[in-house]
Amino acid sequence: MRYTTQFLLSALAAAQFPAPDVPEVAFLGRSNVGKSSLLNTLVGEKTARVSQTPGRTRAINFFALLDARQQRKLMFADLPGYGYAKISKSISAGWQEFIEPYLAIRSTLKLCICLVDSNVPAQQPDRQLIDWLRASGREFAVVATKIDRLSGNERTRNLLALKKGLELEDVLPVSAKTGSGLKDLWARIDAAGKND
Ligand code: GDP
Repeated sequence: MRYTTQFLLSALAAAQFPAPDVPEVAFLGRSNVGKSSLLNTLVGEKTARVSQTPGRTRAINFFALLDARQQRKLMFADLPGYGYAKISKSISAGWQEFIEPYLAIRSTLKLCICLVDSNVPAQQPDRQLIDWLRASGREFAVVATKIDRLSGNERTRNLLALKKGLELEDVLPVSAKTGSGLKDLWARIDAAGKND
């Protein structure tokens, strides 16, 4: 692991966000997309598990990433999972009060990592999120999770369908289970961290 990670806090309102001091990367995705699993592999199981304690699933959980000299280099923001299949009208109830303001006001936010399931066709809430990010001018990368579940042909087909469905030039396939794609994902994250 290239960084030591420190769980900072769970915020339920903008007033509780940590001071914006270093470049930040946010992780967004529908519930069950594999966000916790991916974060566990990126920041270390012990740290990310903190975010799974009761009451923290509706919060934004912040993690600080420290280099070898214990200097804070990056911040990760783990946003609440949105839009379980039943909710069709909007991304989720908390979106407007909470997630949208975070995305709109967070001055240090350099990159939004939007997770979509590589096994599932493009979904309306993902489309909504991506359209919103496009309109807001926020930099984002779409990551397709659980790629280990697909054979070579399915992989190609599904990634192409996701790109089409979400109107993207690129989707980054990853697996928290096998570690596939994580190197490329870290490259995107590190590039965002240098983009001051
Ligand atoms: P979250 O709700 O987005 O935090 O999703 P979780 O990380 O809890 O994962 C949801 C389900 O998908 C769990 O059953 C995980 O074991 C499974 N899962 C997550 N990532 C992967 C992956 O990379 N490969 C496979 N095969 N399963 C995964």
